[in-house]
Amino acid sequence: MEKRQELFAGKAKSVYATDNPELVILSFRDDTSAFDGEKIEQLQRKGEVNNKFNAFIMRYLEAAGIQTHFEDLLSHNEVLVKKLEMMPVECVVRNRAAGSLCRRLGVEEGMALDPPVFEFFLKNDPLHDPMINEYHIETFGWATAEAVAAMKVQTFKINQILSKLFFDAGMVLVDYKLEFGLFKGEVILGDEFSPDGCRLWDAASGKKLDKDRFRQGLGGVIEAYEEVAMRIGVPL
Ligand code: ADP
Ligand code: UDP
Repeated sequence: MEKRQELFAGKAKSVYATDNPELVILSFRDDTSAFDGEKIEQLQRKGEVNNKFNAFIMRYLEAAGIQTHFEDLLSHNEVLVKKLEMMPVECVVRNRAAGSLCRRLGVEEGMALDPPVFEFFLKNDPLHDPMINEYHIETFGWATAEAVAAMKVQTFKINQILSKLFFDAGMVLVDYKLEFGLFKGEVILGDEFSPDGCRLWDAASGKKLDKDRFRQGLGGVIEAYEEVAMRIGVPL
């Protein structure tokens, strides 16, 4: 596998072409951003921890019947994945109230959400990732109605699989964000699943073990990510 030119540099990862047009390399950097890129810092080891964490979760989801872009862990901070035509929408599921839901609706952080809430956001930093619905997605051509349905089904299946994984390790999966893309017409899970894109609380103490430590300046960000990894058995 030959690594070729950089195709795109996002806020936390860079995408590289390979000698296989169907595959790309995602390189996880230590850059950490919040508030649509307004707060940016370098956190040592973050790229490595998230890369290994994500590889573990993608393999775990594959084993549970979810189709993902994951192909191979290449190095401490690089993963080989299927090149997807990404749909510019973020799929969020919430099991407890937190973050923008609390700000938007005035509900108390931690409230249990039954049934869990599903939200779509447009992936667009200058517009601050506005919340959208299925009509916007179809009308503006960001995804077809069939792809929207498939994203919802898969995102909820993933909720069952991962809520149990974290529950069994003494944590609450509060909410998370997923991104999907198309590969030969099929809707496949892309991007990453790591503590950068979800909220995880210690079940006993309520301690935040995710990117809110960075957003809220609580410190111990990577130590918390490593603790989560250790508890679910990610080899670091
Ligand atoms: P952001 O775009 O939010 O700044 P990142 O820094 O994580 O995010 O950049 C990674 C980019 O790679 C994102 O734009 C994401 O949509 C894209 N991406 C993720 N997985 C794939 C894939 N399998 N094929 C092509 N692009 C991907
Ligand atoms: N999220 C993300 N990327 C985004 C926006 C949200 O990974 O661009 C994740 C976030 O980490 C949380 C969930 O999606 O786990 C819901 O985020 P929320 O809408 O509450 O926004 P926030 O207040 O975190 O900006």
